[in-house]
Amino acid sequence: MAIRRICKYGEKILEKRTRKVSFADIKKDLPALLEDMFETMDAVGGVGLAANQIGLDLRLAAIKIKRDDAEPLSIVIINPEIVEKSGSLYEDEGCLSFPGLFAKIRRAAKVRVRALNEKGLPIEINAEGLFAKALQHEMDHLDGVVFISRLPLMSRLKLKPALMKLKARWKKIDESKMKPEAL
Ligand SMILES: [Zn+2]
Repeated sequence: MAIRRICKYGEKILEKRTRKVSFADIKKDLPALLEDMFETMDAVGGVGLAANQIGLDLRLAAIKIKRDDAEPLSIVIINPEIVEKSGSLYEDEGCLSFPGLFAKIRRAAKVRVRALNEKGLPIEINAEGLFAKALQHEMDHLDGVVFISRLPLMSRLKLKPALMKLKARWKKIDESKMKPEAL
């Protein structure tokens, strides 16, 4: 198991649509990859992680949501597609590729998603609230869309100075303890 380095805003792979996965091709490497993805999320307190956030051009993501009354909800989505959405949410969102940045983003309140799970079996997920938000956020990543590009232009411009400041800090983090060999 290993904590993977998370790509930060500005790295090209975050703005590229990921490749659809052939389950047979990744089957052998998948368990170790998913272990790393969940370990990486745990290390940084993330709710979701898309494969391209750790530098892999694969249409798959992992989500882990803490619950008060039950074990965390952990789910893997491979080649996910949204088949239905309804309602609207307008809440703060953050992203592991933009550490320290939060912005209010409009999302559907409920989504129905079809995907393959970690065993390669077709699943259908009905989600709402934070779970629905996480699914949409991760699927945007897989389409090469980062969350701030969902903001209206004016809000995006206003964020720019804060973003430049944060970027300088991410560089320092990357050069020190975020290197995989240091963990
Ligand atoms: Zn993100």
